[in-house]
Amino acid sequence: MAKEVRVRFAPSPTGALHIGGVRTALYNYLFAKHNNGKFLLRIEDTDQTRYVEGAEQYIIDSLKWLGLTPDEGVGFGGDLGSYRQSERKEIYKQYVDELLASGNAYYAFDTAEELDAARAKAEENKETFIYNWSTRGNLKNSLSLTEDETKALIENGTPYVIRFKIDDSRTVLLDDMIRGKITIDAATLDDKVLFKSDGMPTYHLANIVDDHLMGISHVIRGEEWLPSMALHELLYDAFGWEAPRFAHLPLILKPEGKGKLSKRDGDKHGFPVFPMEWKTEEGIAKGYKQEGYFPDAVLNMLALLGWNSGTDQEIFTMEELIQLFSLEKVSKSGARFSPEKATWFNHQYLQQKSVEELLPSFEEVLKENGIEPNPVLDAKVVELLKERANFVKDIFEQGQFFYIAPSTYDEKAAKKAWKDDSKEILGKFVEVLNSSEFTSEILHDAMAEFVTAQEIGFGKIGMPLRLSLVGALQGPDVPVIMAILGKEETIARINKAIEVLG
Ligand code: GLU
Repeated sequence: MAKEVRVRFAPSPTGALHIGGVRTALYNYLFAKHNNGKFLLRIEDTDQTRYVEGAEQYIIDSLKWLGLTPDEGVGFGGDLGSYRQSERKEIYKQYVDELLASGNAYYAFDTAEELDAARAKAEENKETFIYNWSTRGNLKNSLSLTEDETKALIENGTPYVIRFKIDDSRTVLLDDMIRGKITIDAATLDDKVLFKSDGMPTYHLANIVDDHLMGISHVIRGEEWLPSMALHELLYDAFGWEAPRFAHLPLILKPEGKGKLSKRDGDKHGFPVFPMEWKTEEGIAKGYKQEGYFPDAVLNMLALLGWNSGTDQEIFTMEELIQLFSLEKVSKSGARFSPEKATWFNHQYLQQKSVEELLPSFEEVLKENGIEPNPVLDAKVVELLKERANFVKDIFEQGQFFYIAPSTYDEKAAKKAWKDDSKEILGKFVEVLNSSEFTSEILHDAMAEFVTAQEIGFGKIGMPLRLSLVGALQGPDVPVIMAILGKEETIARINKAIEVLG
């Protein structure tokens, strides 16, 4: 029987979750669901210098908002916890001791100054310093010192790290599910630190130990970890464990196409690169949630940033994505992020939603603007304006005149729309309105009859009327506006305009 598929999203809580990290979580989620497997959330917080308060909760909240709910993990239960690495220190210690005992790891006592000096010396000779087979004999470690010397240093409290002893005779054969086969000469690798002087494991050790103990079958992560893959394979070998399969995802690129999409790009162009708002002392970074994106639209957009179904289809339900997703269809090259495309996806999702589905968030926007919801009116406004909206807030922006009567009139528009005879024409039209029924069809006909009877062009009534109702020369059809506003409000607005504009 094939091994159970178990994948993990393993972010470090060093700040807000970048949209690239969200995509990594999504691909892990899709891969797990496609294979009836499990999706785990592991918090990799062993680097205390990079720890940021609140980042872990932010990650959990973001996954919840997006609906990428882990089957196991910090905040989500599971039998193999703790899923927070800082709570697993003893476990890592035990495993690094195992590597020391088997001769796959060694103590290193070199101070930062000594290592700097070694680096500087190598540079003088136009070489790059690597702590490995070529240099370890001349450095201060348990391989170059005698057993007694090493023991004495440990006993007198000299700080040390534990390094992995890379077997330089090896040729490491890698097989990445996206990149294919890669061959690495182990002699070019460095003896990475596995355990730090602060008693914490490094990423490399903790990551391998946990992936093993948590039964991870596939490691799906960002391209930036590809250079670590050989080291990780060697670590699995040293422990005598079967390594998971690896898949390294391509970068998400800047809208301009070159380089990795960064928070700065978002600031520059005004689009979010984080799923939710992230507040720091420097300010608030935008979030997709607060900007009004639908979580399913964001996921759909991210799904296609690096993966394709092999067809032209762009809108996918989550069920379809799960069904169609495969790592074979993830591309090797970076995917250019497009803010316009992100908006386009939201527009598409907005169109798919019914008025009833949109109403709660629309009424949220109303409340934020100090307007008491009015379900009958609100539904009419949403129905009327949704087609052109990318976001729910656009509906309010386009339709706020339904809620707030104009008290001033756009100057340019007034110049164009309000003529000497406008007062008289509108005055006469009010008489028509007084005895008219208020459906858009009847009002439409009433306007047509009025211009014929008065022998005036349509603009003579249409423009000042629109200005009176909207305050500007924008918005949907005037009869439609009048029907929604109702007789009383329509006439009040016309009278007000006559009063102000004369
Ligand atoms: N903690 C690593 C990160 O923040 C995880 C890398 C991996 O998935 O192995 O990206």
